[in-house]
Amino acid sequence: MIEMRKVTKNFGVNGEPAVADVSMQIESGEFVFLVGPSGAGKSTLLKLIFCEQQPSSGRLYFLGRDTARFRTGELLKHRRRIGMVFQDFRLLKQKTVFENVAFALEVIGRSAREIRMKVPAALVEVGLAGKASAFPGELSGGEQQRVGIARAIVKDPLLILADEPTGNVDRDNSRQLMGLFEKISLGGTTVIIATHAWDMVDRMRKRVLALEKGRLVRDEQRGGYSDES
Ligand code: ADP
Repeated sequence: MIEMRKVTKNFGVNGEPAVADVSMQIESGEFVFLVGPSGAGKSTLLKLIFCEQQPSSGRLYFLGRDTARFRTGELLKHRRRIGMVFQDFRLLKQKTVFENVAFALEVIGRSAREIRMKVPAALVEVGLAGKASAFPGELSGGEQQRVGIARAIVKDPLLILADEPTGNVDRDNSRQLMGLFEKISLGGTTVIIATHAWDMVDRMRKRVLALEKGRLVRDEQRGGYSDES
């Protein structure tokens, strides 16, 4: 699904690259943890995949297409096929849970009928059917993140990109959220999670890509958070 060939991303002219010479491949349906210390380049790698950033050099292919050659229409289509999940949830505080999830479909022009069908199904999927009319401020952190996940999956994405999705929730909720990502991945959606939650990574034994100073230093099936784990 994703292939990077010697992808480098520089921000300043003189500074170290945020992502340096990364080559890797991720197949459809894979569940991948992206680990590494703060500043290692994890968020930048996710932004490159979302085409929010462009590589300074190297090639990034999505479903065999060179993303640098996307025209505007293809770029929008690419982003519609990706569900994003953020550490700080990024929910709209003035909208209910239902409206937050519905909004993801409204902005891509889906019909009211589709919204009425898909939003409740997404809320059932994340275990929040009973909270449809609650506002984000009335929910726990774990529940807010489940809304974030419902908003990502309601578009039936091919790929979920999650940046520190458990960074603001406690351990029990982190486990639940990871279980939810696993369930989503078993349904065929590719899932890539950038995280510092070493205990979750160690417990789940998925593929681990480790970055250090922008470089890919480890790519391990059923890996742990660190080399030794
Ligand atoms: P991580 O997600 O692993 O913490 P990031 O991808 O956020 O790492 O950052 C990697 C490096 O790139 C850091 O040194 C960061 O300061 C730099 N960086 C990231 N985004 C930008 C940007 N938009 N402009 C300038 N530097 C950036």
